[in-house]
Amino acid sequence: MNRNNSILIIGSVAIDSIETPFGKRESILGGSATYSSLSASFFNKNISIISVVGKNFPKRYTSLFKVRGINLDGLKIIQGRTFRWKGNYNYDLNSARTVYTHLNVFADFDPEIPTYCRASKFVFLANIDPDLQRRVLSQIKRPHLILCDTMNYWIDRKRKSLLKLLKNIDMFLLNESEARLLSGETNPKEAARFIMSCGTPSVIIKKGEHGVLFFSKRFCFSAPAYLLETIRDPTGAGDTFAGGMLGYLSCVRKINSQNIRKSLVYGSIMASFVVEDFSVNRLLKLTKNNINRRYREFKRITSF
Ligand code: AMP
Repeated sequence: MNRNNSILIIGSVAIDSIETPFGKRESILGGSATYSSLSASFFNKNISIISVVGKNFPKRYTSLFKVRGINLDGLKIIQGRTFRWKGNYNYDLNSARTVYTHLNVFADFDPEIPTYCRASKFVFLANIDPDLQRRVLSQIKRPHLILCDTMNYWIDRKRKSLLKLLKNIDMFLLNESEARLLSGETNPKEAARFIMSCGTPSVIIKKGEHGVLFFSKRFCFSAPAYLLETIRDPTGAGDTFAGGMLGYLSCVRKINSQNIRKSLVYGSIMASFVVEDFSVNRLLKLTKNNINRRYREFKRITSF
């Protein structure tokens, strides 16, 4: 493919501490930009991230991005401590309980996009402060597709900024409880209608182990989640979903309803891998063959 299909991702690169019913890990690699860029790298080799870490960020983590060919020119390493998030889950693995969020170096981050990244055609505004998402977007020239994610933390604290941002994006991604929180509607279809009335042409509602819903003026689509036997840590499932989805869409000839449906399935498949182990461990061992096999299996399970 010779057209520009580069992907730019702004989001958190983090140190996480996680506890699930299946184990506990301290200070492992996390962050929305981490999961989404690694996931997208299975579809597209032209990915850059915009983020910031502190001087305490382990070098072995930086090299994981490099191994997957992810461009780190936009990853600032500055004085201070890396963003930290601690979360735990009970047997309802669909919702994390945040123990703490330490923004650290993100508190004063003013991203500047490297000149050559300003022409990126596919943009993922991964979960981070909506003001940062907006500042990044304002520096990019005519992207082809802008996908945006968020979480309850930002809906609670930066609702106005988030609603303003919705006017400038193409697809908005959030989970069921966040959709309820933002819209005040309990029914996902009503919630999506409200969110679209704020300016975004399409909304994707993630339902964890119950799959994903897509809404736009033209069509709706519902995909189940892949039926998994092993789940150890659901952290990053949403970001991995988004990376896989955008990675796939960045490589198709045309963004039409058929390809959007397929991208949602690829996103679900990528998410099904990441939850099999803590942090990004499963993604690091993944092959294109594993993905294709699971895609065929997904097709078999859902066809009737
Ligand atoms: P997910 O499970 O896909 O929602 O994403 C989990 C990742 O999001 C974790 O690795 C966290 O480091 C990161 N994260 C948690 N809270 C925030 C926040 N408020 N802003 C940005 N990233 C966050």
